[in-house]
Amino acid sequence: MTQALLTYYENFTPVGDILALAACIVFIILIRHAYINRTKSFFYLKSAIIMIMASALFDIIYHISVQYIGKIPVFVNYFTRGIYHFALYSVLWLFVLYTKTLLGLDRKGARPYFIFAAIGFIFVGAFEIVGTIAGIGYHIDENGGVHSGFPIYPFAYVYFMIVIFAMVLRHQHRFVRMVILSVAETVAASFIVMGIQRLCNQTSFTVATFLFPVFALLYHVHSNPYDIETGTVSEHAFEDFVELAGSKGENCYFMSMYMHDFEGKGRKYPRRIQQAVRYFSTKFFKSATVFQISGGHMILTVETRKIPGYMERSQWMIDEFLKVYPQYRIDYKIVFIESDSRLVKGNDYIAFLHYMHDNMEKNSFIRAGNKEVETYLTHQYIISELKDICEKKDPDDSRVLVYCQPVYSIKTGKFDTAESLMRLVLPKTGMVFPDIFIPIAERNGYIGSLTKIILSKTCKAVKKLIESGYYVKRISVNFSVYDLREEDFCSVVEETIRSNDIPFEKIAIELTESQNEADFKLIKERINELKGSGIKFYLDDFGTGYSNFERIMELPFDIVKFDRSLVIASGNDERYHSMVSNLARMFREVHYSVLYEGIEDEADEARCIEMDARYLQGYKYSKPIPIERLTEYFEKTS
Ligand code: C2E
Ligand code: CA
Ligand code: CA
Repeated sequence: MTQALLTYYENFTPVGDILALAACIVFIILIRHAYINRTKSFFYLKSAIIMIMASALFDIIYHISVQYIGKIPVFVNYFTRGIYHFALYSVLWLFVLYTKTLLGLDRKGARPYFIFAAIGFIFVGAFEIVGTIAGIGYHIDENGGVHSGFPIYPFAYVYFMIVIFAMVLRHQHRFVRMVILSVAETVAASFIVMGIQRLCNQTSFTVATFLFPVFALLYHVHSNPYDIETGTVSEHAFEDFVELAGSKGENCYFMSMYMHDFEGKGRKYPRRIQQAVRYFSTKFFKSATVFQISGGHMILTVETRKIPGYMERSQWMIDEFLKVYPQYRIDYKIVFIESDSRLVKGNDYIAFLHYMHDNMEKNSFIRAGNKEVETYLTHQYIISELKDICEKKDPDDSRVLVYCQPVYSIKTGKFDTAESLMRLVLPKTGMVFPDIFIPIAERNGYIGSLTKIILSKTCKAVKKLIESGYYVKRISVNFSVYDLREEDFCSVVEETIRSNDIPFEKIAIELTESQNEADFKLIKERINELKGSGIKFYLDDFGTGYSNFERIMELPFDIVKFDRSLVIASGNDERYHSMVSNLARMFREVHYSVLYEGIEDEADEARCIEMDARYLQGYKYSKPIPIERLTEYFEKTS
């Protein structure tokens, strides 16, 4: 052994490797106990940590074997050094895989980098073997002299780093800049350490430098600190959790808790709630994770395989919760749901749970299953179809149907008016009724498009009926308060009627009264604006809200539609009868016509006629029918 080389080996101290091993053990402890964002890329980082441990261990063994050259077979020396170097190159290779996954590159996108990395890997591996055999690389001569040969390793390191950074820079838009900078700086720190140890004739700290970028990545990409007070982790982690469980085929049980009072940002839980969250999340399920989705929404999640009695445990938890609940006096909604193959991503579960929360009673809990998921998916499907209808803006969209219910006029003894009622026919569900889709359309901002279509289709049908010689006094169309809020409401209505070339008085607009002061004003303005054109206005569902007679008087409606509930009540009870009858009389006296809705039989009919009815509508005469079939009720003009 040359003098320089001798010091080189004599200088070796296992301290660097022992430190690297210890740091890896710390990482493993953290990974086991802290919540880590287990993205797909995390697997490679974990593998890299294991390979770093292997290289540190074999570096130590190899250096021990150097001291025993001559006493033990040289094979042992070559072998341990081989494993040490192979582990290091594997770490570099894993870094390439990790970066590719983190960047979300597909096979094609990653191919050039893989080819370069593979060439590097093969070349370095071949050099290590051939160099040893040919005597230009590391080898031991017949006298037991150790020759380090050409140091290929630093070149391999630089080469792999170039491949990785080329990949990152090419796709830097997919990456947070801070992460790129951090990793680049830690790699620079690695170079400095390696440079210094060269100057000092050292090799002891090589393995340790591989940990630097691992630090940066764990911190930036995978750390997800617990909320120290409640022990919860963020929504972001929920996504990863669900994705990972899905890819492993793990079944999960989700327990979702929603507290409306804490919804909205910046509201911290009071101490007793924090304690309760900690208590409930740790007492019943040993390996549960609580995800904080929003201020008021938490999801306790377990992998069912790890907790065999999870159902009984959840019941036990609910029982205990109900016992202590009265002392908290906070409204809650709880939903239990097991993994369902139709819900794929974390987001799907969150959207499903929101849907459940929106549609359940306060202070109740539901064990959701197949039926609820089915309903939710139908709901999602309806939303997607409504969105499509809204985007296509086709006034003849065949998914929107106009049904009509003929209305009987007492004065003329004929059916000459009707109410248009919307139906949807969707490819996957068939006919959908308005009590299902109208609230969805209103909540998601699609109602305006539907109203435009139904108005246009109604106008077209009216025109056709008139052209076929039928007498149509008018058809009323239901409008939502959301429609009135549109700036161009009046012009759209006028334009639609005008473009279909029918007189304005053939169309009426049905509106329900509004509690809200701004909407009340808006209704008044809109009616006044359109009234002059000849369009009539109906007040719908009178008797269902907080109807205020005086306020209604302020609104220039033409017809008041008494809801079916008033028709029923008037038949059940003398007091109601006199009340409804008096209301109807009062309306008539101030020149509002009264229409009774929901006339089902002759008794309803007789009673309503006696109570100042001007119009009658209900199943007694006809159920809603496709608008073309009005010809069965309307008469031809002579
Ligand atoms: P609505 O405006 O009060 O319409 C009357 C509802 O009562 C219709 O239900 C009708 O089928 C039903 N009905 C009629 N006669 C009787 C009867 O004798 N007995 C009973 N029990 N019910 C009767 P439909 O068609 O399911 O519509 C439900 C609601 O959906 C409507 O209530 C209306 O608020 C809304 N809607 C329907 N079409 C439209 C539309 O084009 N636009 C908007 N914004 N809302 C609509
Ligand atoms: Ca109506
Ligand atoms: Ca009504």
